[in-house]
Amino acid sequence: MTPKTLVPGHTIGIIGGGQLGRMLALAAARLGLKCHIFCPEDNAPASQVAHHTTIAAYDDVQALADFAAAVDVVTYEFENIPADSVAVLAASKPVYPSAKALAVSQDRLDEKSFISQLGIAVADFYDITSAETLAHALQQTGGHGILKTRRFGYDGKGQWRLSPDSDLAEVMAQLDGQPAILEALVEFEREVSVIVARDLNGHITCYAPIENQHENHILRRSLMPAQVSNAVAQTAVQLAEKLATALDYIGVLSIETFVTVDGLVVNEIAPRVHNSGHLTQDACAVGQFEQHIRAISGWPLGDTQAHSDAVMTNLLGDEIDQWADWAAQANTAVHLYGKEQAKAGRKMGHVTQLKAK
Ligand code: AMP
Repeated sequence: MTPKTLVPGHTIGIIGGGQLGRMLALAAARLGLKCHIFCPEDNAPASQVAHHTTIAAYDDVQALADFAAAVDVVTYEFENIPADSVAVLAASKPVYPSAKALAVSQDRLDEKSFISQLGIAVADFYDITSAETLAHALQQTGGHGILKTRRFGYDGKGQWRLSPDSDLAEVMAQLDGQPAILEALVEFEREVSVIVARDLNGHITCYAPIENQHENHILRRSLMPAQVSNAVAQTAVQLAEKLATALDYIGVLSIETFVTVDGLVVNEIAPRVHNSGHLTQDACAVGQFEQHIRAISGWPLGDTQAHSDAVMTNLLGDEIDQWADWAAQANTAVHLYGKEQAKAGRKMGHVTQLKAK
């Protein structure tokens, strides 16, 4: 599909109705653009702030075709959309990021192969298709490693940390035939992500690296600036630019890395805005959500310079009940996602505390 520059009044189609879609729709609304959400749930966080919602399954071909006909450009807020659905959408409207970028990031084996072929370091990884291939791979990694399903893993789901004591038969039973990879353990000092954007003309902008702290496999806190040397920060930005260019990427791309004594190791890429980038909404003139909307709309990319240092804390589960305490704090922006049920560990909102530079 031919790229098109959107003007106020045009409509962006967003696949997925979660908080990322909600913040994309809010950013689009500020620019005078409308959003049409496609998701299976009723009253989704994104639908609450969007112009229109189609409620249908992600593989409902007729609903996808009707949705594509009703919008000017299509994007998505999560990466587990079936490839066939993307093909239906792409037949009638531009879809950003492309099916290629989506396919690479949907499968950990393809993703790691793609990144390492570019000469960028990743953890040693092994294709796991059976108990034998797992046993053989563990011999190479010294008995330790992380087994990850190739597809559909998030927030630590579909992952097993293995040691010489692990019951491999039990792990294989839990894997239940799903294709997987074994990764060698990376010894890292900290985890840092890079949020990069590339527009329709190939122009690239990058936010400064963001430091991430996880608890129970879920992002707890992100900090900007990351506590890394200028050299590491520069390398992080360079590898983000390399990845975005190699994928011929349009939109915001998120790259999670480990900082090690030997340099940066890429953990994974997400073809979308990212939880760690939420603080850019409040710490920069143009945050990641508006940057993505600009990139896919053919607009100039915005300034990524941070005017403040920032700490973003996720509000998980019933921590949402503390919203009034957070709202009373100075220099603090509160973002709540409109979710009804505060299940344990569920991302219900986040707060960003700012400190002038
Ligand atoms: P992922 O689902 O791949 O983002 O992994 C979730 C978290 O597990 C990461 O943020 C790291 O803290 C940890 N982790 C994942 N892969 C590795 C690895 N190869 N070595 C050490 N830690 C890892």
